[in-house]
Amino acid sequence: MRFADRMSLLGTETAFEVLVKARALEATGKDVVHLEIGEPDFDTPRHVIEAAKEALDQGYTHYGPSAGLPELREAIAQDVARQRGTTVQASQVVVTPGGKPIMFFVIMALAQPGDEVIYPNPGFPIYESVIRFVGATPVPMPLREEKHFSLDVNELRDLVTERTRLIILNSPQNPTGGILPQADLQAIAEIAVQHGIPVLSDEIYSRMVYDGEFHSITTCDGMQELGIILDGFSKTYAMTGWRLGYGVMPEELAVHVTRLMTNSNSCTSTFSQRAALAALTGPQEPVEAMMAEFRRRRDIFVEGLNTIPGVRCAMPGGAFYAFPNVSQISQSSKELADYLLQTGGVASLAGVDFGVYGEGYLRFSYANSQANLRKALERIADCVDQLGHR
Ligand code: PLP
Repeated sequence: MRFADRMSLLGTETAFEVLVKARALEATGKDVVHLEIGEPDFDTPRHVIEAAKEALDQGYTHYGPSAGLPELREAIAQDVARQRGTTVQASQVVVTPGGKPIMFFVIMALAQPGDEVIYPNPGFPIYESVIRFVGATPVPMPLREEKHFSLDVNELRDLVTERTRLIILNSPQNPTGGILPQADLQAIAEIAVQHGIPVLSDEIYSRMVYDGEFHSITTCDGMQELGIILDGFSKTYAMTGWRLGYGVMPEELAVHVTRLMTNSNSCTSTFSQRAALAALTGPQEPVEAMMAEFRRRRDIFVEGLNTIPGVRCAMPGGAFYAFPNVSQISQSSKELADYLLQTGGVASLAGVDFGVYGEGYLRFSYANSQANLRKALERIADCVDQLGHR
């Protein structure tokens, strides 16, 4: 078979590869604590599961409109408006199988060869992968530990050229857990408006903020015409396997993204969409309980990491990731992640898997029980103890 050149441009998400490696190791009898994959370990709330069953019984087993069921688009518009304090029309909403397709479709719709897209680094690896895939040039925007993993607005200003077609933001952020402060969002919005550059704001962790309110750049002045929200049900409602996400965008872009849906998926599973409706309109206590537990785990895990010589971990403000600095240890982040898995039985991801500025860090997902997190901490400490320091 001869493959199209563009296939060599497509990257991947290492979490899925490490998961396979960790499972293979488990099959040999080794005990592994899984801190590699970014998904809540909680069950989908019961009433959401019941709504899906009911939908199946009611006959939601057929195609639906490509942009999503009208009642779900309306509920999403209302929820996004309520959560962010803005106004949203249902016509701006496109429902997709997970939040990831919004990334793919929006980059596909806005960028082409010769264009530049600014994206966070370290950041979710799919941004860079898709930017390359469509033939555009990825322009990394460094996120630095000394700035609590937010970006330097002056640095961003310098990265903008007349060829910049899109700026991607992610807050709360994967892999660092960092949050973009409201003042920075305002400054970024001013840059975007001045140059007329759309901003794809990946807000998949918007309900996972530990202190204070969540702020969306889309509420800043002038962003109504340029702001694109990516959000979904995977993280907030522990529904990763259901494949349910959405984008909220100016109508003219929604038309293109909907056409991309028609050309690829036809539509998102209709009974899943009915369950999503129940998630949005039903009780929110399960979300609050999950976040309370994530906070306890964050505190235990980050405190534990900071007691290990050679490891320094900033307190994440959101999501469920810890991103410790391990640059004092004399291994690359990939070698260290591999050593922790093979020797210690702790699966994590190398910081460099999130981009060049992630070297010197590891990413742990603390979506695991407190007992397992404590076990992992002991194992990490033992492993690090056996390694040399710089
Ligand atoms: N955006 C970020 C930053 C993520 O970390 C993830 C998943 O890990 C997604 C988007 C995609 O989520 P979904 O499962 O809804 O496709």
